[in-house]
Amino acid sequence: MKYKRGTHPNSRKNGFKKGNKLWNNPNAKKNWFKKGEHTSSKTEFKKGHLKTPQLFNLSKLELEELYLKQNLSSNKIAKKINLSGYCVRTWLKKYNIPIKNFKISREKENRICESYLKEYSGDEISKLLKVSQQRVFKILRKNNIKIRNVYRSKRTINKIKKNRVKQVFSDKDRKKMSESKIKYLEEHPEAIERMRRQAEEYSNRPDVKAKFKELRKTFIIPKKDTSIEVKIQNFLSLLHIEYFTHKYISEISHSYQCDIFIPVQKGILQKTIIECDGCFWHGCPICKLKPYKNIEQRKEIDKNRTKELIEKGFKVIRLWEHKIKSMKINDFKEILESFK
Ligand SMILES: [Zn+2]
Repeated sequence: MKYKRGTHPNSRKNGFKKGNKLWNNPNAKKNWFKKGEHTSSKTEFKKGHLKTPQLFNLSKLELEELYLKQNLSSNKIAKKINLSGYCVRTWLKKYNIPIKNFKISREKENRICESYLKEYSGDEISKLLKVSQQRVFKILRKNNIKIRNVYRSKRTINKIKKNRVKQVFSDKDRKKMSESKIKYLEEHPEAIERMRRQAEEYSNRPDVKAKFKELRKTFIIPKKDTSIEVKIQNFLSLLHIEYFTHKYISEISHSYQCDIFIPVQKGILQKTIIECDGCFWHGCPICKLKPYKNIEQRKEIDKNRTKELIEKGFKVIRLWEHKIKSMKINDFKEILESFK
């Protein structure tokens, strides 16, 4: 039987429960909480509290008989007397009884390896030879035997399939789908692949692409301003500069909605675009974060856009996320002026 912290009958901590006699005795309390004696951290508690349980009801002779003559394990003895195995082991050490070494003989090891190669599973071997599964695989690994794929029950396979539908389709998508469709997809993972391929083909069709491009001009992408964008916007309003956010730039062939657009005004002689590039999404060369699938494409689009914008008479300021995070208003002012 295992005890939770402080519930062990021998726990000294029990002595200080409210209403207990010891609790009301200030001297006992003081002595107990002397430096180094009381156990505060978890590990200290485990060590200090279980090392010397006073109510161990077996003498040395009794323990020796159970442990050595009857050949019981420490955990089995612990079960008999309702204490933890750890406790029994500490008392074995205290009585100077040598702890048994659970070494498996060469013969048994060979038998394990042979039977595994004869297509017995690890579970079966552990039951037949009365060795724990963990130990079986340990021995197999030691003997350089390749471990086969773990057998999966139908239930776990179904679980994996369900998770797969969850991974591919969001909660919103799944709400729209009928139950029968979800069930079908769970049973036929290749259908998911097919659907994905169809969607990709559809979005890559030139007429569809053109249609979406037209649409993008008018609708507002439901995009929240990122923290770095907000920071730059605040700087601009502190400097009393007028600006637009997410303005659609249609002058270039790679038209898009820019982050911040500053029109010509007092102090600014040229229309300016400020792009706040996230280190991950735009592939920052300094931070070197883990790249994603289409990162090279994204980088090229960025490059082409800045080139075209400059040709059309814009001033383009590209700021990296890590730079903005450590930026102060004076730094931003300097950058604006240096680009004039
Ligand atoms: Zn960066």
